[in-house]
Amino acid sequence: MRVGNRSKWSIALLAVLLVMPTASGCGKKETIKVGIEQNFRPFTYMEDGEKKGFEVDLWQAIAQKAGIQYELVPMEHGELLKSLKSGGVDLALAGMTVSNARKNNLDYSSPYFQTGLVVLTSTDNGVIKGKDDLTQKVVATKNGSTAFNYAGEIQGAKIRSYSNIADIYNELKNNTVDAAIFDERNAHDFLQDKAQGQVKMVGQAFNKERYAVVGKKRNDYIGKVNKGIEAVSKDGTYETMYTKWFGSKPDVMPDKIKKDMEYEMQHETVKGRE
Ligand code: GLN
Repeated sequence: MRVGNRSKWSIALLAVLLVMPTASGCGKKETIKVGIEQNFRPFTYMEDGEKKGFEVDLWQAIAQKAGIQYELVPMEHGELLKSLKSGGVDLALAGMTVSNARKNNLDYSSPYFQTGLVVLTSTDNGVIKGKDDLTQKVVATKNGSTAFNYAGEIQGAKIRSYSNIADIYNELKNNTVDAAIFDERNAHDFLQDKAQGQVKMVGQAFNKERYAVVGKKRNDYIGKVNKGIEAVSKDGTYETMYTKWFGSKPDVMPDKIKKDMEYEMQHETVKGRE
């Protein structure tokens, strides 16, 4: 078939028009901002100017699978949700517990870690043996955290809240509060690293804390992140990283955590519990 000069130009123009939107969409890959906490060991923290932690490592692998280009932005825990809302960061990653109450305002990825809350007290405290001994006691906890919400429900406890967990641990060491409630793995890290035998964990861990990546409602990334989490769980990356940071293989893998969480959230009866 003979194609005239004019038709050739039309075809060329059409080709350019078809390619253009794709080219401009792919050529410059967007770098998103991911907020992390600067002091939430061993998940996300700063040390010698470096961003470190289990979540920092795991996120790198997840983002790679998901094809997400990112920059980590360290900040205080209290700033994370504010920054998400104002658009300062696109996602947040800092042991963020999924809860029904928070789900009303935020979107969560599938959970990738399961833990609990614990009570800490001075090593020489013989009275506080667990969460049921906190009536009339001064209990320290972190502002806006799930532990803070839990503590608020303890009848008669005198709650003191702080924005940095380091201050709570100092209060415990100085015996200026009776007890503290916080996430188990972070507390465990403190006991091993900085408590110098002055603080102990009492009773059993309670409250299920499942950590997930969090973003604004209807953001563009959570779907991709979920695929990334699935991929790193299946190819052994999750297990390797977990073992590196926690010294043993995981008890539960992310797919099981997700199933249990979905079941429980559907059957949740405690209204407003964070
Ligand atoms: N897991 C707790 C929460 O989501 C604490 C997280 C943190 O302090 N980084 O509130």
